[in-house]
Amino acid sequence: MQLYNLKDASEEVSFSQAVKQGLGRKQGLFFPKSLPKLSDIDGLLAMPFQKRSVNIMSALIGDELGHDTVEMLVNNAFQFTAPLAHVTENIYSLELFHGPTLAFKDFGARFLAQCLSHLTPADEAITILTATSGDTGAAVAQAFHGLANINVVVLYPKGMVSPLQEKQFSTLGDNIYSVEIDAAFDDCQAMVKDAFDDQEIREDLHLNSANSINIARLLAQVCYYFEAVAQLPVDKRKEAVFSVPSGNFGNLAAAMIAKTMGLPIKRFVAATNSNDTVPRYLLSGLWEPKKTVSTMSNAMDISSPNNWPRIEAMFEAGYLDKSILTAETVDEDYTHMGVRQLNSLGYQSEPHAAVAYKALKRSLTDDEVGIFLGTAHPAKFKETVENILGVPVALPKELAEIANKDVLSARMPADFAQLKAYMFEKLA
Ligand SMILES: *Cc1c(COP(=O)(O)O)cnc(C)c1O
Repeated sequence: MQLYNLKDASEEVSFSQAVKQGLGRKQGLFFPKSLPKLSDIDGLLAMPFQKRSVNIMSALIGDELGHDTVEMLVNNAFQFTAPLAHVTENIYSLELFHGPTLAFKDFGARFLAQCLSHLTPADEAITILTATSGDTGAAVAQAFHGLANINVVVLYPKGMVSPLQEKQFSTLGDNIYSVEIDAAFDDCQAMVKDAFDDQEIREDLHLNSANSINIARLLAQVCYYFEAVAQLPVDKRKEAVFSVPSGNFGNLAAAMIAKTMGLPIKRFVAATNSNDTVPRYLLSGLWEPKKTVSTMSNAMDISSPNNWPRIEAMFEAGYLDKSILTAETVDEDYTHMGVRQLNSLGYQSEPHAAVAYKALKRSLTDDEVGIFLGTAHPAKFKETVENILGVPVALPKELAEIANKDVLSARMPADFAQLKAYMFEKLA
C-alpha cells in the first residue's frame, strides 16, 4: 500500500512508514493513493468476523506485509465480538464495546499496537504520545501496556474525563505515563502537535502518535462495518444507513472507506453533540470551529475534528458522492431524551450512542434500515446514565477491578516546555 500526504502530495510513504511516522510533513495526514475494490462481497459477508477481517486488511496492506503477517496481527488484535443488537423495528445498534476497555477504540488501538510492535526493531524504543478526551487514552494504554520497547504518554484535560475513564489509563504504571493538563482537550491536542514539531523529542524519543490520525487505527475500523452488514437479514442489507457518533471523525472516515471498498451502505449520518463544526459546514460550506463546549458525550467534545481532511479527500477523489452524507446536531436535552427512549425500548445505552440514535431517528425513512454505533459501554458513563435513568448501572468486571486503584498521573498546565522536560526526564 502506498499513501500520500494530504497537505503535500509529493510525500509518499509505505504503510509501515505511515504507521511509524503517524503524521507527514506540515502535520499532513496520510491517505491511501488508491483503495481496493473487493470482489465477492456476499462471500466475504458469509465469513466469520476474524477471517473476513484478515481478508479485508490483506486487500489493503497484504502486498506489503504479506498475508500471514496480516493474519497474525488481526488475530492478536480482534479477540472480541461486535454484535448487532436489534433495538426496535428498523433500528439496530452495532455494539463496539466488548473489548478490554469497553469502547470501540479498542479495535483500532489494539491493531495499531500489534503493527507497531511488529515494525519496531528489538533494539529501539519508541514513544507513543496521545491526547485523549477519555476513551482513546484508555484503549491505547491498555493496548500497549507491557509491550517491549514501547512507552506511552497520555495527555488528558483536567475535569473532563470521567473518573472511571481516568482510572483505565492512569493506574497501569510500567510503560504507561499519564499527564493531567489544566486545559481543554483541544489544548492537549495542540501540545501533541507541538511535540511532533520538536525535532529533539521526535528524534531522541522516536515519537509516534497513536490517536485516530494513525492510518493503522483507521483501517482496522473498516472491518466492523462489514461485520454490521453481515449480521443484518439478507433482504435488508441494501438499505442500511449508518449513524456515526462523531468527534474527530475517524470512525466516519472508516465507514466511508468500507463503502468505497464495496460494502453495501446506502448513506451516512454524521451525528455530533453541540460541538457542531461539521453539521454547520455541510450546510454553509464554511469551516468555522467554535470554542469547544463540554457535553455528556465528552469523547465527542471536539470542535476541530482532525480526520475531516480524509473525508474531503474521498469526496475529491470521486469515490463517493457528497449526497451520501448528512449531519445532525444533537444537543444535551435530546441526548438525555435519547438515553431515556432507548431505555424504554429495553436497551440501556449511554450519551454517545444516544446522540447517534437521535440523529438516526430524525433522518431515517420507513423503507430504510438504520444502524447506530454503540461506541461505549453504558458503565463507562455510569454517573451520567444513572442520573438520567435513576437506576443503578452495573459495572462489568473490567471496570470493577480498577475502580479502587490509585491514579498515578503527573499534573501540569498547558505548557509545552514543561511537557518536554517531563518526557526527557522519564523516557530518555
Ligand atoms: C472517540 C469516541 C467517539 C468519536 O469517534 P471519532 O472517530 O473521534 O469521531 C464516539 N464515541 C465514543 C465513546 C468515543 O470514545
